[in-house]
Amino acid sequence: MIELKKLNYQYNDLMSVIDAETMEIHHSKHHQGYVNNLNAALESVGRANETLETVVQDYNNYEERIKSTVRNNGGGVVNHNLYFGQFSPSASDISSNFQEIITKKFKTTELMIEELISSGLKRFGSGWAFLVLNKGELEIMSTPNQDNPLMLETDIFPLIAIDVWEHAYYLKYQNRRPEYLANVVKLINWKTIEDRYEMALKKDISYIN
Ligand code: MN
Repeated sequence: MIELKKLNYQYNDLMSVIDAETMEIHHSKHHQGYVNNLNAALESVGRANETLETVVQDYNNYEERIKSTVRNNGGGVVNHNLYFGQFSPSASDISSNFQEIITKKFKTTELMIEELISSGLKRFGSGWAFLVLNKGELEIMSTPNQDNPLMLETDIFPLIAIDVWEHAYYLKYQNRRPEYLANVVKLINWKTIEDRYEMALKKDISYIN
């Protein structure tokens, strides 16, 4: 059975950017909902012991009748594990090592962030913006709904995951997605992203749990 990932901070710890009510509903209702729906679908076909790694990488081979449920809710679980797991209540610095890796591709970290924000802005309707490692290269990409990059191609590893569903920001920002995006990137814990990068290089996706 897949469990809801616990936060390593409190709902009100990110209040300068995301209010406690949004955090609580997002985690205890939306994220929990994806977990429950995924577990129900897996149980219905006798796959209750499935790991999240198998869910995202192998869902396409699942029984037809649960495929889209697993895609939406499995993706939902992984995306939210990555989203909530990447924030830190206090500001964090990028190591010089990781900064070098980012600047090699994007010139500066600021330009990478700009591209990430712009990708989230351009996503029409609900979806996600990601920094990914794609065949050894850092890239910005966006997916619709709850699709996770690992589900599209098992060799695209999500490192930063930004939720642009309205449920992520509507209470505080209403229709102001640009403002939410400009603020939410300030919460990123760069040590976490660098750790994910190191694991992705080794094709170890256990960090999605
Ligand atoms: Mn969400």
